[in-house]
Amino acid sequence: MDILIIGAGGREHALAQAIRKNKTVETIYALPGNGGIAEIATCVPIGTKELGKIVRFALEKQVGFAVVAPDDPLVLGLVDLLQEQGIPCFGPSKKAAIIEGSKVFSKNLMKRYHIPSALYEVFSDVTSALAYARECPLPAVVKADGLALGKGVVIANTKEELVHAIETMLVDKQFGASGDSIVIEEFLQGPEVSVLAFTDGNTLVPMISSMDHKRAYDQDKGPNTGGMGTIAPNPYYTEEMQRICMQDIFLPTIEAMKAELRPFKGCLYFGLMLTPSGPKVIEYNCRFGDPEAQVVLPLLESDLLTILMAVEKGELDSVEVKFSSASACCVVLASGGYPLSYETGKTIVSSPLGKDTYLFHAGTRREQDRLVSAGGRVLNVVSTANTLSEAIEKAYLGVKTIAFDGMHYRTDIGQSALKA
Ligand code: ATP
Repeated sequence: MDILIIGAGGREHALAQAIRKNKTVETIYALPGNGGIAEIATCVPIGTKELGKIVRFALEKQVGFAVVAPDDPLVLGLVDLLQEQGIPCFGPSKKAAIIEGSKVFSKNLMKRYHIPSALYEVFSDVTSALAYARECPLPAVVKADGLALGKGVVIANTKEELVHAIETMLVDKQFGASGDSIVIEEFLQGPEVSVLAFTDGNTLVPMISSMDHKRAYDQDKGPNTGGMGTIAPNPYYTEEMQRICMQDIFLPTIEAMKAELRPFKGCLYFGLMLTPSGPKVIEYNCRFGDPEAQVVLPLLESDLLTILMAVEKGELDSVEVKFSSASACCVVLASGGYPLSYETGKTIVSSPLGKDTYLFHAGTRREQDRLVSAGGRVLNVVSTANTLSEAIEKAYLGVKTIAFDGMHYRTDIGQSALKA
């Protein structure tokens, strides 16, 4: 069977790697893929938002199964378009992807169904938002309603920062239509945990937990990024916490989506904060996280494609989803300057990696016989080992085998988890 994967990052490389372990897989097509995915798949330069072209390509190649990984095509409804053409597809429908596509929707959903989350108010009118800003407690968190490449969240510590965030979103339209409405919410504190879950709309199976490191520099300093590294499992996510989250958050969420006639099929990502008054939802994503997928998928012992196909058929309860008891660490190698301005086209040199260490490409491309950087996040070095400290050590040994001009990475991925 031929498989189609939509996307171009480290997450898609990790997905492709896991999917190709299934013996029935012949060709994997990646649209558009990257320099690393090209080693295991046929990459075709069609962008993730070129929905018409993607559907035509899938029909022409008669692919047996498609996996839509990034948020944009999911929120735009690519899964519906592929399914209308008879192509089975992993990912939520447009109606269900709104759980990530609109923070106003997801906050209202959580309120209606009593799913724990930060208190909030919604505004689309600047005068009322500014009036609320005068009285609301600080810090406050301002979020653009729609997708904003992970940059639509501002934690305002002062009234000035709060007013500035409101004005840039509602008046200056920094995020275009994504900022037509904003959410101003309560600032929460506590360790953050990411939990991805397979769900076919009725059954939900959480994957191994993970911890992202969003800030650009060591000790959580610097601007927010798409993610500079991850570890799994997350030591703060105890068995008791898993039980509470399943009962109070995960199952109520899929039930809520069903009740709203938006059944969710695919990978539902729960961004959680473990506050002193219990776990609360910071955000939902309608897809695998990046770089969470890079640590979670290498620990999956069951066959990924079998699970993805069972989700699509609504038969998740009939397959095994088993994770290894090992740990994993992912260190992101980024272009100097990322997430602000950075240069690309830098030659990447590397030597062979050790056992149980993988290189998932993000922003790379092949130019004749050279591999060059082609994005902000360039490579992910991932190691698995029996313990977290070994996984961290092996990942950083892997980092030493790679070099490109301006290469930047955090040196403390997993250190806070080791102290948990
Ligand atoms: P991404 O693109 O990574 O999915 P996003 O743009 O959807 O992110 P959120 O995940 O909602 O944004 O927020 C980004 C980060 O901001 C969170 O990981 C968390 O660290 C912080 N944050 C968000 N909401 C709150 C809150 N209510 N209290 C404290 N911190 C928060």
